[in-house]
Amino acid sequence: MAQRRKSLIKPRSIAFSRQSGHCLYCGQPMWTSSVEEFAAKHKITSAQAKLLQCTGEHLKAHHEGGKADQSNIVAACLYCNQGRHKRKDPPEPEQYKRLVYQRLSKGGWHQLRIN
Ligand SMILES: [Zn+2]
Repeated sequence: MAQRRKSLIKPRSIAFSRQSGHCLYCGQPMWTSSVEEFAAKHKITSAQAKLLQCTGEHLKAHHEGGKADQSNIVAACLYCNQGRHKRKDPPEPEQYKRLVYQRLSKGGWHQLRIN
């Protein structure tokens, strides 16, 4: 487990720069090193900021043979990443993105709209 997580660090940081530090799904900025700095910068609480931690998200799930390389790893905030995999039948990335945007525009989801 620890090994697998470690191998995500590089593709995740590549994805983070490729997406200019924004979550693929909700489009909000994310942080990688300091939750306090991020919270202060965007004037949100650290509890809120924690939801926007940058995580490496498998477009194709690991158990479906998805690789942990930059072709399959995107950067998503913790909230969106967990939300997708909590579902019994995880939606396709594009479908999920639309769903997240809908929720956000109605004031739901993690309710963070820093952009
Ligand atoms: Zn997100």
